[in-house]
Amino acid sequence: MKMPLNKPKKIIITKPPKGGSTPPGRALIKQALLALIIFFSLVSIYSLISDASKAVEEISLSTLAQEISLGNVSAITIIGDNLEVTFIDSGVQKSSKKETGTALTTTLKNYDVSPDALSKVNIDVKNDQGFMYWFASLAPIVLPIAFIVFFLWFLSRQVKGAGMQAFTFGQSKARMTHPDDKSQKVTFKDVAGCREAKEELREIVDFLKNPKKFLDIGARIPKGILLMGAPGTGKTLLARAVAGEAGVSFFSISGSEFVEMFVGVGASRVRDLFDLAKKAAPAIIFIDEIDAVGRVRGTGVGGGNDEREQTLNQILVELDGFEPNEKVIVMAATNRPDVLDPALLRPGRFDRRVTLDLPDRRDREEILLIHARQKPFAEDVNLVLIAERTPGFSGADLYSLMNEAAILAAREERLKVSQFDLIRSIEKVMLGPERKSHILSEKEKELTAFHEAGHAVTASVLPYADPVHKISIISRGRAAGYVLKLPLEDRKLQSKKEFLDDIAVALGGYVVEKAIFNDLTTGPSNDLQVATALARDMVTKYGMSEKMGPIALEGIGGKPLFGLGMGDKEYSERVSAEIDAEISKIMNDAMKKVEKIIKEHRKVLDTIALRLIEVETIEQKEFEEILVVHGIPLKKKKDIEHQT
Ligand code: ADP
Ligand code: MG
Ligand code: ZN
Repeated sequence: MKMPLNKPKKIIITKPPKGGSTPPGRALIKQALLALIIFFSLVSIYSLISDASKAVEEISLSTLAQEISLGNVSAITIIGDNLEVTFIDSGVQKSSKKETGTALTTTLKNYDVSPDALSKVNIDVKNDQGFMYWFASLAPIVLPIAFIVFFLWFLSRQVKGAGMQAFTFGQSKARMTHPDDKSQKVTFKDVAGCREAKEELREIVDFLKNPKKFLDIGARIPKGILLMGAPGTGKTLLARAVAGEAGVSFFSISGSEFVEMFVGVGASRVRDLFDLAKKAAPAIIFIDEIDAVGRVRGTGVGGGNDEREQTLNQILVELDGFEPNEKVIVMAATNRPDVLDPALLRPGRFDRRVTLDLPDRRDREEILLIHARQKPFAEDVNLVLIAERTPGFSGADLYSLMNEAAILAAREERLKVSQFDLIRSIEKVMLGPERKSHILSEKEKELTAFHEAGHAVTASVLPYADPVHKISIISRGRAAGYVLKLPLEDRKLQSKKEFLDDIAVALGGYVVEKAIFNDLTTGPSNDLQVATALARDMVTKYGMSEKMGPIALEGIGGKPLFGLGMGDKEYSERVSAEIDAEISKIMNDAMKKVEKIIKEHRKVLDTIALRLIEVETIEQKEFEEILVVHGIPLKKKKDIEHQT
């Protein structure tokens, strides 16, 4: 089975330090051995030479004088201060030394050698002081020095390995994708949906392809483009696609890769990255997850901010420092645009902002089609249906869905991916893998069944809640059971009524446990968290509380607005208490609403719960039949008016 994981291969452009290609330990041993071998051969050569010179017997000057006087010497060859003495009788050679700076004849005269005797000796002065002579005389000095020098050089090579690393510390760790690299090429064709984003970016592609056209007319092309969107919406993919479309080099680095333990490293990496890109121009620099370095400065969050701030400053400086005609475009991606430093967003920097939304039904279908390309499908596969059933899925979720389906098929030894594989994968991606081994006791099973039935009935009765697609008491991920609800259509905005109904549905399980079992378990704790968070958002973010009125007390990210540090509330203790009161009012109202529903629809609830205990999973069709039998109307698209 093919499982194309088309994650692009990465080229690391930073050169590894020389000699670092083999593991450092082995390289060290190898070089040490080499050094030893060279050392021993030098030593043996030297000892050979010195042995050769030692083979000649050395005599003192006085002995030489005596021998000359006795007429035993036939010839003396003077090489520098060395004397080679040849004797008459056997032609034996001996060596001696004369005093430096004094002529041999003078010396010999001082030893009382008669001129007569001296004249019989053939004295020959050799200026040519041969290589061997020099070598022999210098070796004792030069060889140790050479050895020490060699040793130092050898050591320095070792240190350089480490030193080079320290040196490359400041180099950017950007991965470069070459425009000619076909295996990693991504184009707009590989990105589904995102129509507006692609439209915006086409302009950038145009510029990179044909900058002259724009520059001639004096157009200023944006230097910085910020891609914003939820995780997995294809920001990274789209940035690659721009480079692929334009056929330019692509330098990609993640914001967190700038930051090291040492102050200044990040800034130097930024500098290096921009230099690299300018050399490779036209090029795109892509800084992924820029919020890692680009957060509002001066918040004191996380302490030790110097490094991050310096890095950010350097990015700002570089953005200002290059001219449009350098044909380098900086793209950045974040899913937290709200925490970015305003300085990054001002004109001339990341002034072009492109938002990537979660894909709608049609986009989801396209994305599924893209990822279905290399997969063999059974006839029954209906991607339209899968797209319908996956609202809220990001591109990455859909990719993972396809992959899971292929894995399922492969595990069951089938050659084709079937619709059932895809459907099962939806739940797997949404809720985590099934935990069939997680066996509930009879009591737990009953409780879970009623709990889930409570969610399901509440969701079916309340007009603004999403309809139920599936109920199950097979545990998945961390949940003991689950109710799968799907909106009738994609929605971008949520209304207050929807929020209120959602809160009520979340409380369904809690209320049932309390009303029927007259006890509470830890089961609904997550439900309560979800419901409370929704209620808090209604009050503090969306102005949906009558009492608080139209006021946003918190930023989108759950943090106060205007870059104040975490925990700095902008409102008084009194307002804080009012918020709490409002939240608990919303929660209590919701609980009362659910209590009423449970009382009125006790029969459906029991039916569903008992059926769940029996079969563990109820699909949409069966569930709707139960509802209809008990006179609960089914939801149709037109029943829901969107309050926007
Ligand atoms: P982000 O950077 O926004 O978190 P990525 O670009 O890394 O998301 O997307 C992750 C994966 O999801 C991609 O590699 C791709 O396989 C898939 N994907 C996301 N969006 C799309 C899309 N619009 N079209 C096709 N595939 C997508
Ligand atoms: Mg990304
Ligand atoms: Zn629950």
